Amino acid sequence: MSWTLVVFQAHPDDEIVLTAGTMARAADQGHRVVLVVATDGGLGRTRLELGPYGDLGRLRWSELTKSAGLLGVHRLVGLGYADSGAGPVVPADPADRCRFVRAPLDEAAGRLAEILRQECADVLIIDDPGGGYGHRDHVRAHQVGARAADLAGTTCVLQATIPVVYSSARLVTHRIDVRRYVAVKRSALAAHVSQSSRAVGGDRMLVRCLALPPLVFGWLFGSEWFIGRKR
Ligand SMILES: [Zn+2]
Repeated sequence: MSWTLVVFQAHPDDEIVLTAGTMARAADQGHRVVLVVATDGGLGRTRLELGPYGDLGRLRWSELTKSAGLLGVHRLVGLGYADSGAGPVVPADPADRCRFVRAPLDEAAGRLAEILRQECADVLIIDDPGGGYGHRDHVRAHQVGARAADLAGTTCVLQATIPVVYSSARLVTHRIDVRRYVAVKRSALAAHVSQSSRAVGGDRMLVRCLALPPLVFGWLFGSEWFIGRKR
């Protein structure tokens, strides 16, 4: 029996570390995988030439599209909010949209809930309550995801985490073995060139991950962990 998995993330590249293996495994086993991303990640840093994309958000969305294809994602949806950034102050909103942390909870959750209903989602994956390492957009993604699940009546909600690092190991309810999918996970990470390439000054953590020897990468990223949400 096949089922539908919806994964909700804040930015392009957030699908990699905590959920890419689970998505690839679900797709490979014949299930439908939908990835919904709140922002275009336009406030990330890179020295990569933007070329025809013109702005970083468009470039990062093209990288996300490639990553999603590698992982077997059937449908990729952007909610179109602006990246809220990681600095001490949330920048002013662009002229045409608001930053994700400023989006009213029920507006953003309502849009995600509509996708959950359209897809008859069986499982929703969201950030853990602390937003993993605590980026404001990731915390908001948890809040929006949890509210959307309530609105749509999606009862199986898994919160992606890393035991000990992001949350107590005692809270983990699911460990997914994704060792067969670490190669595709690594390729998907590499698709985010602007953030994972040392040559263009990408995100330090992602650059380090991609620089790991494949065997070490496989050892570190062969499991993904989730906390089942209690209602
Ligand atoms: Zn992020």
